[in-house]
Amino acid sequence: MTTQHWLNFIDGEWVDSAERLTILAPAHNQPVATIAQASVADADRALEAARRCADSGELTRARPAQRVTWLLEIAAQIRAIANEGAQVLCAENGKTLRDAKGEFDEAARYFEYYAGMADKIEGTSIPLGNGYMDFTVYDPMGVSLQIVPWNFPVSICARSLAPALAAGNAVIIKSPELSPLGLCVLLKALERASLPRGAVNLLCGRGRDVGAHMVSSKHIDQIVFTGSVPTGQSILRAAAENAVPSVMELGGKSAAVVFADADREQVLNSVRDGIFFNAGQVCSAMSRILIHRSIYDEVVDAIVAMVETLHIGPGEENADITPVISAAQLKGIEALCRQAQEEGAVVATGGEGVSDRSGHFMRPTVFRDVTPQMSIAQVEVFGPVLAAIAFDSEEEAIAIANGTDFGLVAGVFTLDLNRALRCSRRLRAGQVFVNEWYAGGIETPFGGVGLSGFGREKGQEALYSYVRTKNLAIRVKGE
Ligand code: NAD
Repeated sequence: MTTQHWLNFIDGEWVDSAERLTILAPAHNQPVATIAQASVADADRALEAARRCADSGELTRARPAQRVTWLLEIAAQIRAIANEGAQVLCAENGKTLRDAKGEFDEAARYFEYYAGMADKIEGTSIPLGNGYMDFTVYDPMGVSLQIVPWNFPVSICARSLAPALAAGNAVIIKSPELSPLGLCVLLKALERASLPRGAVNLLCGRGRDVGAHMVSSKHIDQIVFTGSVPTGQSILRAAAENAVPSVMELGGKSAAVVFADADREQVLNSVRDGIFFNAGQVCSAMSRILIHRSIYDEVVDAIVAMVETLHIGPGEENADITPVISAAQLKGIEALCRQAQEEGAVVATGGEGVSDRSGHFMRPTVFRDVTPQMSIAQVEVFGPVLAAIAFDSEEEAIAIANGTDFGLVAGVFTLDLNRALRCSRRLRAGQVFVNEWYAGGIETPFGGVGLSGFGREKGQEALYSYVRTKNLAIRVKGE
């Protein structure tokens, strides 16, 4: 695999560049492959191609049933290529083969789901009385620029790409520099679905030049960004110049609130998935657990016992704890763990990287005796690190859960239905899980409040992020 060289996909063709980027495997720090690093000139070609395709009306001229056919064909092609894609994604990203395959399966599901909506984007008629006819239609935005992060590149890309195509937009995907190869496989699947030329373009380029150039372009009609808060803020400043509407899916510091009556098995399973899946590199990870003081020691001890059974290893072995994406990521996680200890948090297990491996492995970590204002309870770590905080009352739990700048997801663990519903309404988050972390799916709207961003992805609601409402107000003579 080391000799393989991947290309960008611009205006219906695979395109090389003078500059190459070497992709390193997080599990052993060795080269996996190289990829053409797009230049600003490549970005301009992609922008022109997408603009031409959007303005030509090729994606919208045919009956909507044509878009249904395209999306179903893409889904079938993704399923056909999923095993190849999983190998590539596992190697470049460090995640397990099982989860890498899961990303391709989920990507196919997004196309199937939005295929079901592509011919149902219906407007409304508005009564204005005699002499008038008034109705709304939904037009595509035009050119949708979609900037993708490295943690779930394939499924996050499909999450935005599928509804954008369903609504008739042309798309430019900016892939993440640390993990761009899985998206090349995804594009191979799309290429086989005979979409109009220029409808989907894929560029791997540096965020600070190619990404920054594209977000400032007058050729784009929308920015869909998933990534970190500082990058999102800089993109929003650029978008403001041309008043380009944006969807922002940013970070999180999400809390599970565990009451004394919670089902212990549900809590433990949710912790395992919630913070250790994908080595904690999940925007909606359960990075804080708030536990009623009466069961705090019992639950923390049970979590620690569970964590100490987890196997650390490469994704190829389907290990429980896979490497984090890069040396810099590991360094950042370790620094936050040191800071937590300086501020008085106690390492219950883990707390540092694994020094006897060449890859970037972080020990699954639990901090106990965390107080709400400590940095480990406020800053997004983006690693397998859980902060356990004790609370005494429901009121206090809600205040702690809502007491960060973020608001992506939250969780409540209790067998008391009234308490679950009461807390769910008061938690400041775009999605609340009750008794199972990640209980939602591609059908359920997802997005944040506060520094977690705005706009919604997933579900029927997301489709309306990819259209503009136009109203037609008509004077009817003689009525
Ligand atoms: P990042 O912000 O560093 O990069 C994301 C993307 O933005 C990359 O493709 C990068 O090249 C590009 N980019 C960087 N600078 C740019 C600029 N100035 N202009 C345009 N594009 C630019 O984020 P990351 O490190 O790849 O991902 C981790 C972050 O993403 C975490 O904070 C995580 O919480 C967040 N995230 C959020 C969600 C969500 O749905 N809310 C999902 C996954 C990840």
